[in-house]
Amino acid sequence: MENKTYKKRPGRAVKKLPAVNDARNISKIECFLFDMDGTLYLGNDRLDGAKELIDLLRAQGKKALFITNNSSRVPAQYVEKLAKMDISATVDDFFTSADAIVYLLNKTNPGARIYVVGTPGFENFMADSGFELVHGYETDPAKRPEFVVLGFDTTLTYEKLRIMCDYLVDGVRYVATHPDMVCPAEGHRFIPDAGSMMLMIEGATGRKPELIAGKPNATMINILCEKLGVPKDRTAVVGDRLNTDIMSGINAGAKTVCVLSGETDLKMLETSGIVPDYIFDSVLDIFNALR
Ligand SMILES: [Mg+2]
Repeated sequence: MENKTYKKRPGRAVKKLPAVNDARNISKIECFLFDMDGTLYLGNDRLDGAKELIDLLRAQGKKALFITNNSSRVPAQYVEKLAKMDISATVDDFFTSADAIVYLLNKTNPGARIYVVGTPGFENFMADSGFELVHGYETDPAKRPEFVVLGFDTTLTYEKLRIMCDYLVDGVRYVATHPDMVCPAEGHRFIPDAGSMMLMIEGATGRKPELIAGKPNATMINILCEKLGVPKDRTAVVGDRLNTDIMSGINAGAKTVCVLSGETDLKMLETSGIVPDYIFDSVLDIFNALR
């Protein structure tokens, strides 16, 4: 397969791609960490090969887990979403940027008082993880938050924004779950995500988060490799975004697989300077390489 000419579409050969797919090498991967939207499905539509690949990996005794930057949903909601696509999974198969921010905050400030800008699901998750949620703008020093935590908030209100900005102007520490500018939505549309909210907040206050827990941060991959006992060179991050999915794998020192079924196209691959270890049209081609 060396120097293989990569075919984006039948009859359209594209040369000079940075990575070469070698089925003998990818078969050495023991643990696959999948991005979901753009990789396994688009909106509510399962992509060809997604179920087959997950089933094949499990039948081969390999690990298949799901990592997502989206902090607006909890794992039980993803279990349900994948079940509707006939992909079985348990809550333990998912790791989100919410898990990563909890892990990182717990290292230095377990049980901290926090002001959360996020969905009710994310607020509950943070409270269940031992953090003390502050509601509204507090002037009592004993009740004020030690951190403002920004997640992907599909329930954002102007009041929350104003309170967050007040705390940031006061100098309260500021962390965020993930940097994605947009989130894929139904009908091939996009909705503003946490990264876009960060830009608005920065415009108003001049503040940027001191820590962003999700991809491209390597935290999710590091935690999972340790938990599963899998070496980094036998672990691959599979995703459709270069600046989050692929960079998280590179930052973790793991292998990376870019699929062209979502955000990234060949032109982006050639010009981004980010080089995945493997490039496939879709998960169907990974399935075909591994079976
Ligand atoms: Mg994606």
